[in-house]
Amino acid sequence: MSKVERCYRCGKRYRGTESHLDTWNVEYIMGILIGRVCPDCQSPEENAEAEIDMVLEDHSGAEEIIFDPADDDELRQITRRLMESYKTPEALRHAANRLEAACQRDDAKLMVLIARHVARHMDRVIEERR
Ligand SMILES: [Zn+2]
Repeated sequence: MSKVERCYRCGKRYRGTESHLDTWNVEYIMGILIGRVCPDCQSPEENAEAEIDMVLEDHSGAEEIIFDPADDDELRQITRRLMESYKTPEALRHAANRLEAACQRDDAKLMVLIARHVARHMDRVIEERR
């Protein structure tokens, strides 16, 4: 990826060094990448969340998730995208909690339900690999 990434709040450049990887946060809720946040712009709570984001891999390929819950194919796509984007059930649950807190719309509530269901599925997959 060649695009220069910056803190979306203050514009500081993200360099992808080990210390940046450890301290920068990615604001990203259920398929919607908001942007990277440098340590200076993070609240103490967000600093704690940066630790969780460390387990996530590159989000740059993520697409916004818009869906019709009546469409089974779309539901499968959402499941796949959530698993590809979040990598771990912990990260997916964390995002679900944040989305639940951030948005009370019906589609957000449904996405939270789907995400928690997918997280349980990921738990089972991980369990089977052990
Ligand atoms: Zn910043």
